[in-house]
Amino acid sequence: MKRALLLIDYIYDFVEDDGALTCGKPAQEIKANIAQAIASLNENDLLIIANDCHEEGPAAADHPETKLFPPHALKGTKGRSNVMQDEIDQSKAKVLYIDKTRYSAFHKTKLKKILDKNKVDMVYLAGVCTDICVLHTAVDAYNLDVKAAVLSSCTASFSEAGHKFALGHFKNTLGMNVTDSIE
Ligand code: ZN
Repeated sequence: MKRALLLIDYIYDFVEDDGALTCGKPAQEIKANIAQAIASLNENDLLIIANDCHEEGPAAADHPETKLFPPHALKGTKGRSNVMQDEIDQSKAKVLYIDKTRYSAFHKTKLKKILDKNKVDMVYLAGVCTDICVLHTAVDAYNLDVKAAVLSSCTASFSEAGHKFALGHFKNTLGMNVTDSIE
């Protein structure tokens, strides 16, 4: 079975204490779990890193997030750096990077094409925030008939209520397996 681990937005701005839009402690506490998930991948698997990539100034004026959140994940900044870069570099899996501009990792990206081309059977979702970017990616996976599961121990949100809601939604509304480890 061909598996892909899709790690969403696990970058400086969303994780570290002084990140521009940090989830803080809940995001930092799943670091070891994400490391373990990455380490469990083999040569046949894919590790897909999907990170926000935003612009500032006039180019960003029409982006809906500019009205909702402070600037974050700006192109070319430290805020976009991967918290797990060492683990990613050491992964046995084939690593692919995707820049995204909206919550969903599918929106205007090559993700669906990559999954189809590599004949991926199951995508495991991980990262932050459970109830924003992970949720929107999961909804798109559902609508695109992409088989996906959620690694609950590798997701987090600044909102515990939002985190719990999303885990319930993956399972009860999207019919996804919510699990602790890659099978
Ligand atoms: Zn964003």
